[in-house]
Amino acid sequence: MGKYNPLEIIRERHILITLLTLLLMMNLISCNSDESYYSADDFGKVPKIDAHFHYLSFDNTYMKYAISQNFRLITPIWEGEEVPIDVQFRLSDSIHSMFPEHYAFFASFPTDNINSEGFAEKTIEHIKSSLESGAAGVKIWKNIGMVLKYPDGRFIMVDDPVFDPVFKFLEDNNIPVIAHLGEPKDCWLPFDEMTDPGDVSYYRNNPQYHMYYHTEVPSYEKQIEARDNLLMKHPKLDFTGAHLGSLEWSVDELAKRLENFPKMKVDLAARMYHLQYQSGRDYDHVRNFIIKYQDRIVYGTDSEVNDLPGAEAAAITERLGKGWKANWMYLATDSVINNTRGLKLPSTVIDKIYFNNSKRVFSSVRLWPLRELPTLYTH
Ligand SMILES: [Zn+2]
Repeated sequence: MGKYNPLEIIRERHILITLLTLLLMMNLISCNSDESYYSADDFGKVPKIDAHFHYLSFDNTYMKYAISQNFRLITPIWEGEEVPIDVQFRLSDSIHSMFPEHYAFFASFPTDNINSEGFAEKTIEHIKSSLESGAAGVKIWKNIGMVLKYPDGRFIMVDDPVFDPVFKFLEDNNIPVIAHLGEPKDCWLPFDEMTDPGDVSYYRNNPQYHMYYHTEVPSYEKQIEARDNLLMKHPKLDFTGAHLGSLEWSVDELAKRLENFPKMKVDLAARMYHLQYQSGRDYDHVRNFIIKYQDRIVYGTDSEVNDLPGAEAAAITERLGKGWKANWMYLATDSVINNTRGLKLPSTVIDKIYFNNSKRVFSSVRLWPLRELPTLYTH
């Protein structure tokens, strides 16, 4: 048995500690300087949520396809004329019962009784029963501000006192709200001033929705102002502004609101074009905006799927897949597609936008009466 030289042991320890420190420093340096990024091939591997997806079908084919692409879906029910909210509720309830881990939905409430006594109380009851039946939150729609009126003809905006008890209830109970308020700014502009060619053809075919010709409807600015007032009145409301909060034309205007309203988030649904339009002009500005507000931006597409015969359903599925992949290429990689260079956001940012910022919706503890929900949002 050899003799241990105490000095030798101290020296060995010293070398070991130095080595460990060096390794730790190298690790820290590499974490700071080498952001990691996803590639085109990672699309299928990364868990994703499409947080604005209109599932208007009892057919679960689309859901199975979404899961195969590593997507979960959230459907916001809206109070439009095409599909009544109770029908949408039945559709969502059916898909939700089949895929509770992968599918969630936001309920809506009827506003046809807005001018009658007890509107707020009835609305709160409706919301409670929707949550009891599995809804994860509430969606409000642009009919507030653009369609609903008092008997004297005045438009009812979203910051109107008639809604105060409803929003207070949502705020007090930490119930997530998705709000599609107003329209893209293009809607109020003449054709030659519109940004999105898609808007030009849409409003040519649907002049009834082109607000440039409907001066009786409150202006674009009034819609945004009413939404801002709502957030001022209810600063703790868990609020997601759909379609880049209807400020799709300027990341700077959007940034002002994200600064002013710390609980506000926005989804990207159907407004990727506007983001690309701006990044095509000032790449770093848009990229830095997204990185700065990485906790407040939620991926969504506004896709819609319906009950259709096999071949047509297959075509929809194919279009869906193409759209999802094109968005991934733009956000996660720097590939140039249709003259647009991708933003190549760090993988940590992609994980937030595509998953973490929406995952609270899939919390299992969401049935009424609501217990303390895990807060993923610490603003
Ligand atoms: Zn939508």
